[in-house]
Amino acid sequence: MKQSITRRDFAKSLGAAAILSATRVAPIAAESPARRHNKTIGIQIPAVSFVDEGVEQVLDIVQQQGRVNTLFLTTFSYTLGTAGRQERPGELPDHGLQVYDTYDTFQGGSYTALGPRVRANSPIPASALRAPELGDFDVLSSVLPPARKRGLKCYAFIADNIKLTLPQAEKVLERGIDGKPLRNVCFNNPHYKQLILSLIADTIRSYPLDRVMWRSERMGAFGNVLEVSANRTGLGCFCEFCQDKAKRLGVRVEKAKEGLLALQKFVDATKAGKHPEEVHSGRHPRRREGRVSRRSGWCDLRAQVLRDAPLDTRRGR
Ligand SMILES: [Zn+2]
Repeated sequence: MKQSITRRDFAKSLGAAAILSATRVAPIAAESPARRHNKTIGIQIPAVSFVDEGVEQVLDIVQQQGRVNTLFLTTFSYTLGTAGRQERPGELPDHGLQVYDTYDTFQGGSYTALGPRVRANSPIPASALRAPELGDFDVLSSVLPPARKRGLKCYAFIADNIKLTLPQAEKVLERGIDGKPLRNVCFNNPHYKQLILSLIADTIRSYPLDRVMWRSERMGAFGNVLEVSANRTGLGCFCEFCQDKAKRLGVRVEKAKEGLLALQKFVDATKAGKHPEEVHSGRHPRRREGRVSRRSGWCDLRAQVLRDAPLDTRRGR
């Protein structure tokens, strides 16, 4: 998905004055205003930037030009926007390799060594989850020691997406109204829960991090119908696990399907130029049913991550 403000745009705006001055200023750590007032000035960085430019060089740039005190290090992602180099038609940065990434050159996956919980519990073979394009490079092992020496806080940045060509990927995907797999993982799917909980627990256990950021950037079925985002994946989730959960919550699954299809018909007709009154059937899809349980799945799983992952790590391996 194309971001409206890219990571590099953000860094550029933060560091504009410093870049224009072309003067290298001293790294700021303990004495910085951000640190003094406990404010986070962060930047999200993919592993490939450290491989391309060198760890110390990247840390110099973000500290000296961006006044950054926190790194969001991408450790698990399958999107170029979070784990790759610049995409066309974005502007290339004024440092590093002057090359673009595409989905032909970028693979994605885990940019750290995979831990015992993932190896034991992942529904997708752990050997397939390691990002292949950077070899054995481990972004956390490589960046955490020098970053911490500089007083930088470090987050592991874990995205919720998955690559559709991975073995067993279908096991963790949302399902559409017709039962066919969609592109996103389902947060009510127990296999995905096993994967993400294991991944987060292993990450916390294996590396001296300050925080873990688990991000999800997508719409539910209602937003997908209304096309409020370019990141649409179809009308879901109607997998067996979401349907079971919906029934427990008193949501009528068939009415939800009916409502979403009626709304889709309405949207298609208005896009074709018909006036809304011409196509309005008089029956409004009910919002709660239209959303089924994607959001509640996200909230439930986030709560489980917060509750279980740290406890699990305290119990040890
Ligand atoms: Zn589902």
